[in-house]
Amino acid sequence: MKKENNIIIGIDLGTTNSLVSYIKNGSPRIIPNPRGGRMTPSVVFIKENGEVIVGELAKNQAVLNGEQTVSNVKLAMGKDREYRIHDRKYSPADISALILSHLKDYAQQYLGCPLADAVITVPAYFDDRQREDTLKAAEKAGLNVLKLLNEPTAAALTFGFSQKGDARFLVVDFGGGTLDITLMDYKDRVFRVRGVGGSTAIGGTSLDRRIVDYILKDVQDTYNLDLRKDPIAFQQLTIHGEKAKTDLSSTDETRIMIPYITLTDKGPLHLNLPLHRDRFELLIRDELGEIEKHIRRTFEKSGLGYDWPDSLILVGGSTRLPVMEKLLRKIINKGKPVNHPPGPETETDKKDIVKKNINPDEAVARGAGILAGILEGSLSNIEFHDMTPHNLGVEDEQGNFVPLIPGGTPYPAEESRLFTTTQDFQEEVCIHVLQKSGKEENYISLGRFCLQIEEPRKKGENNIDVNFSINTHGLLSVSALDIESGKMGEILIEEKQFMGSKSTVQVQGAETSKEEDIKNGKEDTGKTRSI
Ligand code: AMP
Repeated sequence: MKKENNIIIGIDLGTTNSLVSYIKNGSPRIIPNPRGGRMTPSVVFIKENGEVIVGELAKNQAVLNGEQTVSNVKLAMGKDREYRIHDRKYSPADISALILSHLKDYAQQYLGCPLADAVITVPAYFDDRQREDTLKAAEKAGLNVLKLLNEPTAAALTFGFSQKGDARFLVVDFGGGTLDITLMDYKDRVFRVRGVGGSTAIGGTSLDRRIVDYILKDVQDTYNLDLRKDPIAFQQLTIHGEKAKTDLSSTDETRIMIPYITLTDKGPLHLNLPLHRDRFELLIRDELGEIEKHIRRTFEKSGLGYDWPDSLILVGGSTRLPVMEKLLRKIINKGKPVNHPPGPETETDKKDIVKKNINPDEAVARGAGILAGILEGSLSNIEFHDMTPHNLGVEDEQGNFVPLIPGGTPYPAEESRLFTTTQDFQEEVCIHVLQKSGKEENYISLGRFCLQIEEPRKKGENNIDVNFSINTHGLLSVSALDIESGKMGEILIEEKQFMGSKSTVQVQGAETSKEEDIKNGKEDTGKTRSI
């Protein structure tokens, strides 16, 4: 093998399949696995002697050795799940590490050199624990993750890369359980994330539930039967509900047929119920309203107009519903509230902005490869500017979190606040850099440094200027300047440190914002705080 070089690989660590990519001659290429396949099933089989088989072979024998085979491990990431195989225990991160090792091994074989650095994609809705598990898995597999890239962003990178000119995208990733919205542009060779939003409470399964409720009501009204009381019948309904939904993406009308669904006093009941697409769209009108609300919120938060995107990129199985495209076009073209269901499309609604010329199976992996190329320098003529995933700030002397850079701020970003001493003749101030993540008050310590004060004065008389600055690559620099002496202290925090939560810290009291401080009269200068 050649000696290590600076190749960075891009990995799409998928629920069903995983792919590896890298940049060759200025464009992303998928690295084939040893069987020649471009996609490797994310399936792991562990033999009695400890030998690990990953991919197609593991998938093919899964039926025979179900107990020793793990599929869909991505769904368990971040959870306290344990796999017991041959009396050995494996966490979801352990299993994912086996998949990553396999991908890394075959990429090394193919490229003929050792590899260490990688960009790995994760669903945008992955929370800190899920991201942390992904980082843990990579570490176990001997990979150094330079960036956890959100999957819809990766898909947009792939699309933007194949574009000739500038583009402004709305990427909607609507899968089985989540809705992810990303606004992104590509201008003057720079990809910039402009807004993110969505919900983990709405997805394809919420739509299936509406169909199930519809059937339940029909059976109740017609036969005075509650199928909810029959678990097997209910399970059947769930399966057929989803099937009817997917059928309606390619046909106007379908039939939900389940022979012998249950036994009644009069004999077996055979379900045979027609469902028209119009009726289905009416059944899911609340969900369509929710989707619209989240899309509008994302536009509003980012300060961009509804007509801003010129390209619509649809990712995820549920975007195959024709009503999704209709709804999105209506929002983008009119900006006005949409009726639910949105009804037929007008000529203006039909503006051709939906981009379908990217391979959905490879778009995410290619996007990871593109970012890998940007980071390794082989795509030096383009840049990628992400957003801060969480609020970044410092802890003050009362243990409050003082935010400096809010979550969702595009890179590069810079913010300063003036702090002061809390004790007479204080000789040192310590800056504790924190990240606040998630809905709960979850604080993560990113670093701490102290600055000696050259000429200590009475409390409140020394001024310390704390500056947060994030460069285009996500490198956070936090500095503290003793204004009186001109002495400065600084720490650098790499983006990967705030990609996932290492360990949470207790921060007392509530978070206070600059605005609240001013309101409460805490900040007479509108800037100063104690530290
Ligand atoms: P994903 O997580 O991207 O694989 O998406 C899974 C979801 O997409 C599930 O809720 C599926 O029921 C849904 N889905 C898959 N194909 C279709 C289709 N043709 N029409 C509507 N929904 C679909």
